[in-house]
Amino acid sequence: VYEELHKKEKLAVVGQMATAIGHEIRNPLSSLKGFTQLQQERNPVGNEFYPIMIQEIDRINSIVDDLMYLGKPKEITFENARIEEIITYTLSITNHQAEGNGITVETAIAEPLPPLECDAQQLKQVFLNLIKNAIESMPGGGRIQILIKSVEKHKIYISIQDEGCGIANENLPNLGEPFFTTKKDGTGLGLLVTTQIIKDHNGELNIESEIGKGTKVDVVLPMSQGGIGKK
Ligand code: ADP
Ligand code: MG
Repeated sequence: VYEELHKKEKLAVVGQMATAIGHEIRNPLSSLKGFTQLQQERNPVGNEFYPIMIQEIDRINSIVDDLMYLGKPKEITFENARIEEIITYTLSITNHQAEGNGITVETAIAEPLPPLECDAQQLKQVFLNLIKNAIESMPGGGRIQILIKSVEKHKIYISIQDEGCGIANENLPNLGEPFFTTKKDGTGLGLLVTTQIIKDHNGELNIESEIGKGTKVDVVLPMSQGGIGKK
């Protein structure tokens, strides 16, 4: 029956679930993380499992974040931000995962870039999702190229290109469907959340991919949202 639900109905179901259980999961999870970190500090010897435990707790946290984003009524707060800083921040979070997988990240920024009216918190989520997907597409290592530039008619263009497994043509229409994933432990929520946030910014998302060669994700965002503040 679930398969027959439309995308909107699926979202409503997910949204209700998220509201109901998101907060309940978050609190015990944060004390679990705190005590795990404390235990790690107290046991300087033989603590090789703690980083993995903490990483896994963070993973649950990010799944809960995605679910809660879906359940929230849309509230978006535009401010003046710098896209370079948003990307740099995101890379500081994914750095560890990239290094651990033998992945190098090259960022090319065409200077000078104007400020961007956006919800910076939400855009961090977008680039986190996209960069994680790029990393996860290259289990054997490789290179991610990020290009940021301003383009015609007051827009900012960001592309994220990987040399990973690529996406099969038959899967392209499913991208962004709730729970569509080809990964053993994927959630299939990343691109859904990403698409929604970009839509809220009146932006565009384009994905080009070739099996075995890699994937290029382009994001185009208007520099102005007609003023800062809540929308
Ligand atoms: P998840 O990452 O949890 O699977 P996403 O919504 O982020 O969920 O992505 C959905 C699916 O899209 C992935 O499972 C994968 O099949 C495909 N995908 C997205 N980005 C990439 C990429 N850069 N390279 C290869 N496949 C990708
Ligand atoms: Mg993902």
